[in-house]
Amino acid sequence: MRILTLALLATTTALYAQAPAAPKHQDTEVYEPVPPIVTPGATPFAPPSDAIVLFDGKSLDQWVTTKDKSPATWVVADGIMTVNKNGGGNIETKRSFKNYQLHVEWRVPTNITGSDQARGNSGVFLASTGIGDAGYELQVLDSYNNKTYVNGQAGSIYKQGIPLANPNRKPGEWQTYDIVWTAPIFNEDGSVKTPAYATVLFNGIIVQNHFELKGETLYIGQPVYKKYDTAPIKLQAHGDKSEPISFRNIWIRDLK
Ligand code: MG
Repeated sequence: MRILTLALLATTTALYAQAPAAPKHQDTEVYEPVPPIVTPGATPFAPPSDAIVLFDGKSLDQWVTTKDKSPATWVVADGIMTVNKNGGGNIETKRSFKNYQLHVEWRVPTNITGSDQARGNSGVFLASTGIGDAGYELQVLDSYNNKTYVNGQAGSIYKQGIPLANPNRKPGEWQTYDIVWTAPIFNEDGSVKTPAYATVLFNGIIVQNHFELKGETLYIGQPVYKKYDTAPIKLQAHGDKSEPISFRNIWIRDLK
């Protein structure tokens, strides 16, 4: 009897001791519901009188390279800035922000190639909390006619918030993001007092409606909060092989 009990115990222990499968990036990618396609109207773009202009089409004075805070090296020409394919990586604002209203315009080149996540991939990190892709990403992608997981298409809070609609314009056309960011508030011990919220209009159409974030964006695994106070805004150089994407007319209004 004792031997039998021991054998049973050993079997049970062995069953429970099996290590859980390692998390995969596919675990957090969902394909439904597919946001309805909505054709946008014309969108405005001039900065209002009280805005801080972050990119005026002429210089990258307001931006640094994320990884070492050296001057940003994206290419500025014809009033727009374009991801530098020859290195440098992500760039972010010199200034840090808490709660704000942000306007960003972006364009996927007409001759874009690739598919899925490798087609015009970039991102607006609503708070850049560290080097690389650390922070909270509003996805930028060509989602005009390009299937991917819906919580990773343009207008998504990457791997958290499926956009309410798909108002993408064609590659080669300018698109607008108008964002209201409410920063998370943390307790002394780093726990979350109130979460972050994002409201996003994409080409004038609401795609995130006071969306409550679950934490910072992760490619693999579940989002998690890490205490911060104020943070720069970061633009992603995703490193795709296709032609790089461009930005213009970026401005922000601090919300006290
Ligand atoms: Mg991205």
